[in-house]
Amino acid sequence: MKNIFFSLILLTAGVIQAQNNTSYWQQHVDYKMDVDVNVENFKFTGTQELTYTNNSPDTLNRVFYHLYFNAFQPGSEMNARLESIADPDGRMVRNEGTEEEPKRVSRISDLSEDQIGYLRVNSLTQDGTSLDYEEVGTVLEVELAQPILPGKKVKFNMEFEGQIPEQIRRSGRNSSEGVALSMSQWYPKLAEYDFQGWHADPYIAREFHGVWGDFDVKISIDKDYILGSTGYLQNPQEIGYNYEEEGTKVNRKKGDKLTWHFKAPKVHDFTWAADPDYIHDKLVAEDGTVLHFLYKDNEDIKENWKNLQPKTAELLLYFNEHIGPYPWDQYSVVQGGDGGMEYAMLTLITGERSFGSLVGVTAHEMAHAWFQHLMATNESKHEWMDEGFTSYISSEAENVILGENKENPHTGSYRGYQYLANSGREQPQSTHADRYELNALYGTSAYSKGAVFLAQLGYIIGEENLSKTLNRYYDEWKFKHPTPNDFIRIAEKVSGAELDWYLMDWTQTTNTIDYAIDDVEMKDTKATVTLKRNGLMPMPIDIDVTYADGSKKTYYIPLEMMRWEKEARDGEDRTVAEDWAWGFPTYELEIDAAKDIATIEIDSSKMMADVNPSDNVWNKDGESSEEEGEE
Ligand SMILES: [Zn+2]
Repeated sequence: MKNIFFSLILLTAGVIQAQNNTSYWQQHVDYKMDVDVNVENFKFTGTQELTYTNNSPDTLNRVFYHLYFNAFQPGSEMNARLESIADPDGRMVRNEGTEEEPKRVSRISDLSEDQIGYLRVNSLTQDGTSLDYEEVGTVLEVELAQPILPGKKVKFNMEFEGQIPEQIRRSGRNSSEGVALSMSQWYPKLAEYDFQGWHADPYIAREFHGVWGDFDVKISIDKDYILGSTGYLQNPQEIGYNYEEEGTKVNRKKGDKLTWHFKAPKVHDFTWAADPDYIHDKLVAEDGTVLHFLYKDNEDIKENWKNLQPKTAELLLYFNEHIGPYPWDQYSVVQGGDGGMEYAMLTLITGERSFGSLVGVTAHEMAHAWFQHLMATNESKHEWMDEGFTSYISSEAENVILGENKENPHTGSYRGYQYLANSGREQPQSTHADRYELNALYGTSAYSKGAVFLAQLGYIIGEENLSKTLNRYYDEWKFKHPTPNDFIRIAEKVSGAELDWYLMDWTQTTNTIDYAIDDVEMKDTKATVTLKRNGLMPMPIDIDVTYADGSKKTYYIPLEMMRWEKEARDGEDRTVAEDWAWGFPTYELEIDAAKDIATIEIDSSKMMADVNPSDNVWNKDGESSEEEGEE
């Protein structure tokens, strides 16, 4: 009896476990905020009513809020990291030494009391009951008065105040281009709780993970300031500044301030910027999305910002087609911040750039509207999924829209990755975004290796399957928090290939791809090519043969563990060879040599990121190209 009972418990536990792993849920927030900004001393006060729905199967006894502005203080963890990392972000330091012998000083350590950033919570209640809480750096730890049971809703009411820091990183006052206020990560923001638990990450460098919900935000500010913001302006006729309906009269209330009222549905962040000298242009894209452009009234940049507008509309249509339709009615490109950063329905970018660079940064940040603000991956854990996918699709888009027409628009990403892999300092992509040894190692891993992840997936499963995978990823994961496994499962379902090995080796290890042509033996009308796998990472192999008469033939060697074969490309003369099982370090391929062979090459498309491509080509005169100079 006891034994039966025990097995029953085990059985039930097993079922629950399985459900937890397969049934998706996400938390929900509704924010109502009312803030009053003083543009003279850069302080603001606010109230926040937050309705939180616990859709998890768990009972919550604590919650956490991010207080990001607290990072911009001399004693902060962000400052400690900035002062100890060997390659600090150039925007966050000044150089007291010479160019040859730099002596970098943290700009955060320079901040005086009235220049630092802070967010302070003055009161917090849960359904009317006062709560105990503690501010720990950039995180507010809150003990709940009543646990939040699965499926239940609670209301948190908060009074808070803040000071906008000097612009050091992403947000702040007085940007280097003279933008008054760049307001990202500016409010007490509830941390995300998901199937992996709480994500109350301190703000050290990067990045973000937020709870999906609806925002209703009122911002009262000096009436001369013009805002660009997440969300739809609810009272354009009281505001004007080209937000009003064209040709209608604006009725501003009397007083020194205007209250801007925004509503943003289904977002996980809320960002705005303000400046008294913004020019505000609008353009309606072909799909009906209203594009807003806010930039400084500066003669040097005006022409570029005007020319950017139709290009932005083209980018939007490109992403609509190649990922999936942009679901909101508006997107804003706003001059602000310190480089380019993606936010909900909006980007903040620096604006004093060449035209190419302005389009480039807009393409990248706008692509994040999909790969972060729709498919909202946890950027701290899976930095390559937002930065890499964005880099991939924006390079593809620019190649078309700027008429670059490169055969492979990702060569820069491949070069970056190959350099990283050969440097001996690579860390796996599964490293937390804050905990790379160097900023440069994070950058190359997230952006370049992340872009190669997709470009190379096109080599593995074929371009058509890759584009179907992106469309289906959008269909199934928009407005959610996908993980790496969710993405690769889509690619598996679309193609039919087994791909877990690719996700694992590429993103969780530093295993490299290194195949070589070891030997070529000619015999009558056949040639035997001996291939060698020198790296630990498996790959299916395309062998491209060019004959002396210019004709070409491809031999495709399927990877056995994929249990699948790629389709031939259009017009390709292709032979499918026997599978190559990974455990065998060498492989013999018999190829047609009835005609004179000029070259034999492993993957002439170079979409496979071989870290040592010098031994990938055999040519008639020089044998394997590696041996030419080495013997
Ligand atoms: Zn990015």
